[in-house]
Order: sequence, then structure tokens, then C-alpha cells
Amino acid sequence: MTDLERKLQGKIPGPDTGIEVRRTMCDICSPGMHCGINAYLKDGKVIKIEGLDGHPVNDGKLCTKGLANRQYIYREDRILTPLKRVGRRGEGRFEPITWEEAYGEIARQLNRCKELYGPESVAFYSGYSKWYRQMLRRLAYAFGSPNYGCESSACYTAAFMAWKLSAGDQGGPDMEHSDLFLGWAFNPFHSSYMAARKAMKLKEKGLKFLIVDTRRTPASEKLADLFLQPRTGTDGALALAIAHELLRRGWIDLPYIQRYVYGFEEYAAYAAQFNESNIEAITGVPYEQVVAAAELIHANPRMSCNESSAPLCHHRNGLQNYRAVLSLLAITGNFDRTGGQLLTPHSYMHVSCGFPTREEEFLYETRPTGVKPPVGAPRFPLWDHLEGEMQAMDLSRQILEGTPYPLRAVFALGMNARMFPDSGRMFRALEELDFFLDTDLFLTDTARYADIVLPACSSFERGEFKPYPGGVAWYTSPVIQPLGQSKSDVDIIAELARYMDLPDEPLKAGYEAFVQHYILDDYGVTTEQLKQAELPIPIAPVHQHRDLEALEHGLATPTGKYELKSAIIEAHPQWGLDALPTYREPLDGADPEAYPFVLTSGSRIPNAIHSRLHAVPANRSLRPHPTADLNRADCARLGVEEGDRITISTPRGRLTVQVHPTLTVPEGLVNLFHGYSEADANSLLDADHLDPYSGFPAYRSTRCAVTKEN
Ligand code: SF4
Repeated sequence: MTDLERKLQGKIPGPDTGIEVRRTMCDICSPGMHCGINAYLKDGKVIKIEGLDGHPVNDGKLCTKGLANRQYIYREDRILTPLKRVGRRGEGRFEPITWEEAYGEIARQLNRCKELYGPESVAFYSGYSKWYRQMLRRLAYAFGSPNYGCESSACYTAAFMAWKLSAGDQGGPDMEHSDLFLGWAFNPFHSSYMAARKAMKLKEKGLKFLIVDTRRTPASEKLADLFLQPRTGTDGALALAIAHELLRRGWIDLPYIQRYVYGFEEYAAYAAQFNESNIEAITGVPYEQVVAAAELIHANPRMSCNESSAPLCHHRNGLQNYRAVLSLLAITGNFDRTGGQLLTPHSYMHVSCGFPTREEEFLYETRPTGVKPPVGAPRFPLWDHLEGEMQAMDLSRQILEGTPYPLRAVFALGMNARMFPDSGRMFRALEELDFFLDTDLFLTDTARYADIVLPACSSFERGEFKPYPGGVAWYTSPVIQPLGQSKSDVDIIAELARYMDLPDEPLKAGYEAFVQHYILDDYGVTTEQLKQAELPIPIAPVHQHRDLEALEHGLATPTGKYELKSAIIEAHPQWGLDALPTYREPLDGADPEAYPFVLTSGSRIPNAIHSRLHAVPANRSLRPHPTADLNRADCARLGVEEGDRITISTPRGRLTVQVHPTLTVPEGLVNLFHGYSEADANSLLDADHLDPYSGFPAYRSTRCAVTKEN
């Protein structure tokens, strides 16, 4: 082998090998990460990737998902041209058309719906990815529709709502200065590897961990000084019982409460209902463990907790449960204090970077007024009050029933109908539409129902603005040409706005102009400077925390205080919601004798995020078959062993998967992994088993039956 051949085999960059390295980022998972990547290129193709040294998030590392980027962007089934449906909806028969033809058809169909039914009859929906959402919202508003919405109707927002009700804005953990971290449904080992590394390092330095989770996870095994395992969806009752024990023993910060907390007396009286007499029956947690948790909190006064947790909110009582957990911070004086939870307002795309931007101005300045309320507003008035956008969990119902007004077209980017509870109902709704457009990299199960499918490109094929915590930011440049005729999502949106001549000049000016004028101008930085930078560079001074400053100034709640009792809910008795973080049973109304197990789904796995990456062979090989975790005692009773097949059924349907006997789930619980088309966990759920506070689906608390498949 020659020296050059050796270098080529080793993918060594240089003029002789023709291999060069360009920098970009991974957008497989959440905007809270977006790790930096070195992309090795030869002949215009990515031949290798690695983590980018010095990047503020990942500093040279990539997770299992991020390492799949190359296989993901070069999947053989990438859509390379706009497509027009020629078969039945769902059949998957399409023919290529030009971009001009696609825009013409989209404009014709959307305008037809507007003329026949009004602009609100068109919904604008975003699934994955998320980076273009500001532009999509403006597109909806420029068209005249209030119906912008996204997959955050089932992800994160309920936690954010709990924060807004309690403190007016989100609080993040000051973990580095905490004595104790309350990790409630916290498993970063599968959802955020950098957070897991941080937690492990802090544990080595002496940080204590109180981990609460329905399942045993790597966090309970590697981090917990004390682990509590409540029944699924009973978290609120457990949090109230811990609060009661703290109150009973006087282990609270009374001066702090008297000065900064609203609703304490009623909250304390309510929490007293969750005590030694009933807590084990409700949650399955022995009262001694509640006492142990209170003792651990008392012995470690500076306490913080995870600021967001989907598992806590994926119950019909989820938002209230989350408020009950957050209340523990308030009664121990740990909000707005070093080592506790600090206000972390969002800078951009729901990420807190330490500096303000005018993103919200761009989002809301063109919101149409005097139009009909967005989808879901009558059913979920608190959601509507706090979020002011479509609650997409009500979308399929409104399409099928046509009430309170017809919904006849959906303009979607990256939509996944399988993420909706009773996913079959969403597919039926898509069949009923006058017009459905989806934009994606691949012809997904959902895109097969579209009339027009537009080809989007990946993060390697486009540029994107990205700020990070610490006041730094970056603007990536494409490292390869878009595959085929695929385009960046934001270019599609801006081009369509121009094609339809919608009345919104900033939208028509495009994404980069938005970033420049609404974000960077305020800091005297240009997109060009960010593009030239090797790594994210400082653009803004970071707000420095001062203890109790926010509370002294007054929080963005109606009372200006931390609210254990929500003054917003109190002021709207017509909503029929409770101002205190009350607890109610999580399970649906199915017959417990016919359906003696409880189904939970939605747990993260390290090698994929939801269904994303399931079609990448290397990642799929790590968990190739749809599988459910079942407690070993339940397996013994059913007579099943590893790899045997079990049938899980609910009143909505049944599916058969492999079983994995385990001790990570308690008896009576089935943990079904989601994201598999051939065994769609959400097809078993009730589309109306939703949290009335947030509209969130109960992915994690549905009665079911389990039988051995013969
Ligand atoms: S998928 Fe992994 S590598 Fe990619 S952004 Fe998320 S954490 Fe980083």
C-alpha cells in the first residue's frame, strides 16, 4: 500500500488526499443540544464525521444518534424532487413535479380553502426538525390563519406551562452549587448524554441525588442516593406527601414563604391530605421512603431539580403533577437562590442562552386579530391562554367533526401522524382533508397521505443560526450541496410567501434577514461574522444571577410572587380547573378486570429519537424489533421468556411485540418502546385521554391487557 493509499484509507485530510474538513452541527435531537461536527469531505461527499473539539456543547464528542448523521443524510430513500400524489392517500404513488408546479398547486389549494371556508380552515403544522418554526408561524399568520402548531403540543410545553403558572417563566437548576438534585423522571443517560456526564462529575464532587421514577433507569442505578419508585402518574400525590412531611416537621423556609410565595396556607392544607394513611395505597411508595426523602432534603438545603420532564407531563394529570413537584422548591426557599432553581428566560427556540432577543416580536407581531380561536382553544383554555397557538391534540377531532369550524387543509413540515394518541384517527383525518402538504427528507408513513410532498434538505446541506448558553452564537454554512432538488425548510417557506405575495415583507425577506434584524442587530454582530467563525463566538453579555433579585423585582405572575395557587386559574373559574396543584387519578376508564396492566410508552432509547434513525441500519440493529419491558414476575405468570411474543390490547386495538423480562419496571406495568410503524404504540391509546390543563396525551398511563401469543 502506498503512502497516499494509507492516508486515503485513514481519511487523512490534505491536498494530496483531496479530503477537507468543514464544520457544521447535528440537529437530530433537540435545539437544546445541536452539537458541533467536523465533516470530512471528498469529491463533495461526506465520508466521515466526528465531534468538533472546542464546541461549547459537545467539545469533540457525539452520541450514538449524532454518529448516525452520515447514514441518515445519505439514506437511499431521500426525496429528491417535489412530488404529486397520483394514487390513493397512503398508497405511496407519486410523480415528480417541478418546484414551480408545486408552488402553483399549493397556492391554488390554500387559496381555495380560504375562499370557501376562511383562512382558519388551513392549519400550519411543524413536526421535526424545529429550526424553521418562527418562519412557519409567520407564514400561518401572513395567510390569515391562527392555526400554527407543532409537536410541542405533546412535548415540553406542559412543563413550561407549569413554570409559567408558578414563576412566570422557566427556572433552570444551578446544579454546580446545589447540595441535592431532585431528578424527577430524569434519565439523561438516554436523552442527553452531556447532561449525564455533568451529573456524574457533580456526583463525584459530592452532589447528592434524589431520583424519582416509575422505572429503574441508569439514573436510578448510577446517581441515586435515594430512589423512589411511584406508580405511573402518581407523582403529584408523592410530591404533596413529601411536602406535607417537610411542613409537619417545620423543615421549610417560612420567612421566604411569607415574603415571596402566594397561596401557601391553602396549599399546606391541601398537601396534608397526602400522608401516612394513604400515600402507599395511592403511589405504591412506603411512607418511610417519603420520610427519608424529606430528611434528605432537610439535610441538603440547597436543592435544584430538572427543569423539564416529558414523562411527568404525559398523563392526564401531568401538568398538575409537575406543579406539585416544583412546589417543593418554593417551600424550601430554593427558587431564585444560588444552588436552587434560577430564572432562565429563553433566548431563542426555547433555549436559554443568558441574553434576551426580539424573537417573540418576530413570532407574534403579525398574529391575526378578530379571527376564530385556534384549534383546541375551547377544550384547553389554559393552553390557549398561555400558548396562544393550536393545541394539535385536537386537530384530528376538528378535521373529522368540523366543529367549531371546518379545518380543511394542513400545510406541514416533518409531520408524523404516529405521534398522536390513537394515531389511526389522525390518519383517517388526513384522508378527509381537501388538501394536505408535507415536507420531509423521506417519504414517511405520513407523507404518503399528502397531495404534494416537498423535499427538505438536512442540516449538512444548509446554513442555520444557532446561539448557545453562555452568550455565544454561530451561523453554519452548508458543507455539501443539497441532495437532488431538496431545499432548506426556511427557503421553502419564504419562496412560497413570495409566490403567494403574502402581506409580510420580513417573512418574504427570508430567514437570514430575520436573524440579522430581529436577533443580531441588537448586538452589533452580522451573520457574516458568525459564518466566518471557526466556533461559536461571544455575541452578548450574559445576565449574572443575584440571589432573590427576581423575587424582589416581582415575577411575571399576576401576584409577582411564586404561586403555589395560580392566580391565573383562580381568575378563570369558568375553565373548571384547580388553582392549587391538586392530584387526581391518572388512569383511563377502561374496565380494570379486562385490562389489568398499565401501558407506558415514550421512553427514550440511546440509539434513536422517537422514530428518527429507526431506518438507519446501524442504529436499528441495536434494537431491531418492537419490544416491551415486562416485570419478571409478570412474565413468569404469563409463561413467557426473553424474545417470546406478547399481545398488548386496549379498547382501541392490539399489537404483538417481543417481550423483555426485566426488573426495571414494577409488576403490572408494560413499557412499550415507540416509533415502530409495524407496532405503533400510539395506535393503542385513546385520542381523548388528555390532560385538561395542557391538552397533553397520556402516553404513560393507559389500562391494557397482556397475553402470551401462541
Ligand atoms: S443527537 Fe446527539 S450528537 Fe446530535 S445534537 Fe443530539 S446529543 Fe448532540
